[in-house]
Amino acid sequence: MTTPFIRNHQYNFIKKQSNQVLHALRTVSDQRVLDTVRYRAAISIMEAFDDLTEYQERLLEPISTLATAYDFERYAASLEPYLEPYPPITPKQIQKLFPKTKKLKAPDLKTLDFRYITYLSWIDIASNRLFLIYPFEGQFVGLEGRITPTNKKGYCLFCNRQQELAFFSVMTKIGSTSPDHYSSVGQYICLENHVCNQNMTNTEALEKFILSARK
Ligand SMILES: [Zn+2]
Repeated sequence: MTTPFIRNHQYNFIKKQSNQVLHALRTVSDQRVLDTVRYRAAISIMEAFDDLTEYQERLLEPISTLATAYDFERYAASLEPYLEPYPPITPKQIQKLFPKTKKLKAPDLKTLDFRYITYLSWIDIASNRLFLIYPFEGQFVGLEGRITPTNKKGYCLFCNRQQELAFFSVMTKIGSTSPDHYSSVGQYICLENHVCNQNMTNTEALEKFILSARK
């Protein structure tokens, strides 16, 4: 039975490691160096998972023996059935996460391929607001904030790639006793969440941001 165990960001990480090995195979002639590159890639991939069964390790291992671009393509394709999609979510659940917003312009869920989504987000252009939903510790966390395009490229906090950026700032309450005390948490992130989801190779920065912004 095919039990999914690879999340989108882990799959991106595997593809990134594959590209690095492929690049080394094309540019490095020293066999010992190549062996090291391959070995390191295999170890890094294993380490991207909290725990793996022996069967899962066997699925990931071939990276240390692949040789051609075609081999790497087949390797990536062989792992696709094991992709663990973003957990199922309904429009009702989405609405519940943003009770203050009456007319949410959430994306049409039927059009999304949830296998390639680490975080769900969309921009309401009319109000300049970004809505973000991330499955965290068994439940969905919703974040909402102002989004300001920078019209510049730079490093995105979430995916750590150089992309077209926007500044995302979320208001947070300071303490529960004084309702008037607000502060804001802001970061530069990809303007295009689709691109960001394709690039994310770990969830650390995203989770840290969510924790600091959801007070
Ligand atoms: Zn990004």
